Amino acid sequence: MTAKPLLERYQALLDMPAHTRSVSLQEGGTPLLPLPRLAEELGGGFELYAKVEGLNPTGSFKDRGMTAAVGEALGRGAKAVICASTGNTAASAAAYAARAGLRCIVLIPEGKVAAGKLAGALAYGAQVIQVSGSFDQALDLVVQLSQRQPVALVNSLNPHRLQGQKTAAFEIIEDLGRAPDWLCLPVGNAGNISAYWMGFRQYDQLHGSGLPRLLGVQAAGAAPLVHGAPVAQPETVATAIRIGAPARGEQALKAAEESGGRIIAAGDEEILAAQRRLAGEGLWVEPASAAGPAGLAAEVAAGRLDAQGGRVVLVCTGHGLKDPDIITGTLPPTPVIPAEFAALEALLAEE
Ligand SMILES: *Cc1c(COP(=O)(O)O)cnc(C)c1O
Repeated sequence: MTAKPLLERYQALLDMPAHTRSVSLQEGGTPLLPLPRLAEELGGGFELYAKVEGLNPTGSFKDRGMTAAVGEALGRGAKAVICASTGNTAASAAAYAARAGLRCIVLIPEGKVAAGKLAGALAYGAQVIQVSGSFDQALDLVVQLSQRQPVALVNSLNPHRLQGQKTAAFEIIEDLGRAPDWLCLPVGNAGNISAYWMGFRQYDQLHGSGLPRLLGVQAAGAAPLVHGAPVAQPETVATAIRIGAPARGEQALKAAEESGGRIIAAGDEEILAAQRRLAGEGLWVEPASAAGPAGLAAEVAAGRLDAQGGRVVLVCTGHGLKDPDIITGTLPPTPVIPAEFAALEALLAEE
């Protein structure tokens, strides 16, 4: 079935310039998957759902924003787009630029981008440049270049990205009939949490759909919004949120506070444990996406989050296939047997 492009579906609700062109890969419309077993395990007495954003065309929610940012850049006559990226923005920008027939340049922190993301950017034909430095330093460089050259910046500093991304909030409300009580999501550059809050507020003003509390979760080694100061050398297995100076940090803190929620940190071990728990329900997400459930589990266990009788939505931002090394590199190697039935039976009897 041919779905309407996201920007058309929500045209009336999006503040996009009239010159914006349609550049779509049929993004959005992702499932809201019930997670009854994990909900019971957590024991908070609430219904739990995952918004499965890894099922977007390039495997992350970045596609919602990129259809808007690239469509606007194309309509304005840009010939090239540029971004700094921890990976998913790069793959998404590359795909939408390819779709639009634009050149795409991406800067990534050297050696810190998951395999599936780098391969994606290359497959879609982007010019990929590694920077020996952090994401934050790469972002500085692309901002400077976009100020001097006719190249459109498509990082989430680009306001059109947030217009596209807020559509996820609309979809959740439409699926549940109203806003959830809590929305849990990972926070890196803080564009997504800001976009969700804009979306929920807008829909509530129009339709009285209510507002969720926001639980934003950073990785403990990259938690500037929790510490209240930039982190010079952010470190975490969750590479998508390995960001020390979030571009939309202020906006994110304000959103969390206005909602009656907060931004907290989760350790790498908790994040990887949450990744395994989700996979145990058939949902494999990349490590950053597991920060949300890791934070939720800690808050519920400590009695700090009351959602009794309510609904909690986890935003699962990216697909597990993006970062296969995290799984193959942290688990014991798989056994090898001779191609003989007796060997298979013997091995299975061991367990
Ligand atoms: C980009 C990204 C994030 C962080 O989103 P921000 O808008 O930068 O806060 C989280 N998870 C995944 C998988 C991402 O690609």
